[in-house]
Amino acid sequence: MTATAAPTATVFNETYQYRVPDSKAGVPPGLRKVAIVGGGTAGWMAAMILAHKLIPRGVEVSVLESPAVPIIGVGEGSTPWLRGFFDMLGIEESEWMPQCNATYKCGITFDKWSTRPGFESYFHPFASMLDNLTLTQFTYNAQARVNGLDVEARPDKFFIASYLARNRLAPKPQRNFPFDVWYGYHFDATLVGQFLHRKAVERGVKYVSCHVTHTHLKETGDIRSVATKELGDIEADFFVDCTGFAGLLIQKALNTPFVSFSDNLFNDSAVAMPTPMTERISSQTISTAMRHGWCWEIPLTNRYGNGYVYSSRFCSADEAERELREKLGMLDSPTEARHLKMRIGRVTRHWNRNCLAVGLSQGFIEPLEATALLFIQRTVQQWVDLVEQGDMGEKAQEKFNAKVNEHFEGTRDYIVTHYKTNTRKDTEYWRANADNTKISDALLELYAIWMSGKSIAPAVGTQKLGKGYPIFSWYSILAGMGIFPEQARLRPANGDERYRMAEIDNLLTRSLMNFRDQREVLENIPPKVKEESLQIYFW
Ligand SMILES: Cc1cc2nc3c(=O)[nH]c(=O)nc-3n(C[C@H](O)[C@H](O)[C@H](O)COP(=O)(O)OP(=O)(O)OC[C@H]3O[C@@H](n4cnc5c(N)ncnc54)[C@H](O)[C@@H]3O)c2cc1C
Repeated sequence: MTATAAPTATVFNETYQYRVPDSKAGVPPGLRKVAIVGGGTAGWMAAMILAHKLIPRGVEVSVLESPAVPIIGVGEGSTPWLRGFFDMLGIEESEWMPQCNATYKCGITFDKWSTRPGFESYFHPFASMLDNLTLTQFTYNAQARVNGLDVEARPDKFFIASYLARNRLAPKPQRNFPFDVWYGYHFDATLVGQFLHRKAVERGVKYVSCHVTHTHLKETGDIRSVATKELGDIEADFFVDCTGFAGLLIQKALNTPFVSFSDNLFNDSAVAMPTPMTERISSQTISTAMRHGWCWEIPLTNRYGNGYVYSSRFCSADEAERELREKLGMLDSPTEARHLKMRIGRVTRHWNRNCLAVGLSQGFIEPLEATALLFIQRTVQQWVDLVEQGDMGEKAQEKFNAKVNEHFEGTRDYIVTHYKTNTRKDTEYWRANADNTKISDALLELYAIWMSGKSIAPAVGTQKLGKGYPIFSWYSILAGMGIFPEQARLRPANGDERYRMAEIDNLLTRSLMNFRDQREVLENIPPKVKEESLQIYFW
């Protein structure tokens, strides 16, 4: 793709245009030095984007990392947007994926979240252009079933991604397959951090190993410098807080208020442990409901990552570890488990004064849909876009913060839906989730529209909900969890009222011939076809 080309791509009947970067755009003169505090995934992703966009314009970018505070070291799944991150930086999959033990991800199976007969498990797919051919049938059937027709409405039956995942195929079609397929990745979080660290330093980012002890503010309230144990005060024009849950700058120094989501999302803890890889590498994350939360299973090239995300209000760390070990058949294994705490919510202002919070310091929605890296990517990208326009004024800040907050809230509501619609009755945890009334008005309205049998598309499109997830994802979760009248109350559909599922199955099954086994593809990762991922730039 040339620098001046502005190609378009079509996904679900919408056309997106690739934004051509304006190489002549300026950077505000007061922005000469940016200090990123923290060298976890957030710190290095931010460093890479800033190196790409600002270093060529004469801005100095450094990463300050404490030798004493380890990174969180989890976060092994992504959404498809991560593809846009590496594409923008010009880094080929064949370079970064093998170095990070990465695999391709088609979506997530949610197992045992619902007890409704026939809906005990469903797949939340990543979309593909091919889905344009089956999406209408899916949403039509889902709505028809809410209205009492006995038609197939499980998302697994309509999307190529679920067919790929079921067959452990990589979502990388042969060159002559005419549809692009979206996919995400699984990877070793520590190795990704190390990879990005090396790349960022190669691209001109300065790395400083030092522990920040406190922060000096100017009279205006902006940050003047950070005081370090090893090197004294370090000044910068702008600071990026990537210090993880500590939130040293955004929260501790600038006192930015934090909005907790604990009323909506009960989980605040996790326990993780690896298991050996099997012969065939799967191409999906599996999320299995447990007694007091859920368990992830993430395939890398060399191992599975597993973890149990739970609520400490309902279950102790020991109980959680035991339940996880039981599930994995590791009760007597010497493999150590890692216990983690999570703070769920967001700051009110992600950009406050001369500080941008990125990663866990800005907030976290639990990892059920693996959205955290997307928040990192979007937050930095949107901030850089404004900087490139020379717009760092208060109005721009307000708009920016409102946008990031909408993204947080839309995503939170999507995650809440997993819990609110569960029908498990086995523990107080699941009953409390189903009975929870502290959910957003937007969500309550959406459920009401669904139950009334009308299309939820307008509500998703006009409310914050759509800022978190697209319409087909909302259909997938509500249909996948089986929010329909009971089977006995459904009436058979006649020929005009239903789509012929055999035709859809035939189309999707035939398409599989264009895909290969995940392991085989990973052993020889094909080079990127430049235009193939254009549509991921649309935000
Ligand atoms: C259980 C769990 C599962 C998750 N799963 C996923 C997932 O599947 N997908 C996903 O996208 N995300 C996931 N996440 C989130 C993901 O792990 C984080 O968003 C990501 O790793 C970024 O973390 P971070 O860089 O903000 O923080 P950290 O990794 O905690 O890094 C903090 C950095 O700040 C530095 N630092 C701290 N204090 C100081 C100091 N005083 N001076 C200098 N430096 C300092 C540390 O040295 C470190 O380098 C998960 C999180 C949890 C808890």
